[in-house]
Amino acid sequence: MEINNSTIVITGGGQGLGRSMAEDFARSNARLALIDMNAESLTEAGNACRELGAAQVQTYVANVTDESAVEQTFEQIVADFGAINVLINNAGILRDGLLIKFKDGELTQKMPLQQFQSVLDVNLTGSFLCGREAAAHMAKAGNGGVIINISSVARAGNIGQTNYAATKAGVVAMTVTWARELGRYGIRCGAIAPGFIETPMTAQMKPEAIERALSMVPLRRWGQPNEIAHSARYIIENDFFSGRVVEIDGGVRL
Ligand code: NAP
Repeated sequence: MEINNSTIVITGGGQGLGRSMAEDFARSNARLALIDMNAESLTEAGNACRELGAAQVQTYVANVTDESAVEQTFEQIVADFGAINVLINNAGILRDGLLIKFKDGELTQKMPLQQFQSVLDVNLTGSFLCGREAAAHMAKAGNGGVIINISSVARAGNIGQTNYAATKAGVVAMTVTWARELGRYGIRCGAIAPGFIETPMTAQMKPEAIERALSMVPLRRWGQPNEIAHSARYIIENDFFSGRVVEIDGGVRL
């Protein structure tokens, strides 16, 4: 599929990887529907994409965990653009913590259900809801489409990330399932599993965690958001890519 003139929906499009992908596609004259909860960053990202040459840009303030908001947003996108060609399920959050903590033989902490559930709600349920709505509109239009889920190197399991790792493995399972179910409609599904990429999300990490993380990366540097945008572009443009994960992580293994 060509990026030029395609309608590309990006969740979490206001900052970080979502904004970087939006800007990259804007340079190729894409039509962009950006969804985010943060109205301010969304407006800034939309303006930046217009300046870079996007054919059309609309922004939508919505929470991807809210079923009716997601349904209404996708209806509105189809009304505004006529069709959806690509969805990038990028919105995601971290709420790291150990499953349990013991001190002097005493249980001092358990990961609260809310901490676990909040990450599932955004990363997994949000991707499910947006994927479902995009697939329904794409199948109805009959012109195929592409859905990209953003996973992570943490999908293999990582200390302090019970919730996050579970969601990032989950989105890969959904990717393979959707590739199998939706291929008959000409809809391709792929996933990208980034390693440590320099975004506001990783800026939350403590300095010692950053140092530890970098020491595990064979290339000894952070990935840059445009390197993830490059992978999204590859999945969109390669018409035989489906049901697989592109790993962009500088060779790191957690
Ligand atoms: P980020 O800078 O935190 O950006 C995420 C965006 O998603 C934010 O604009 C955020 O809005 C939005 N968002 C969060 N919850 C939302 C919701 N319920 N509904 C709508 N929008 C929501 O993160 P990032 O680093 O760009 O990460 C993007 C994706 O890549 C995530 O799925 C992340 O797990 C994945 N990833 C990142 C890395 C990395 O190293 N950066 C590595 C592997 C995978 P608010 O600002 O309002 O919260």
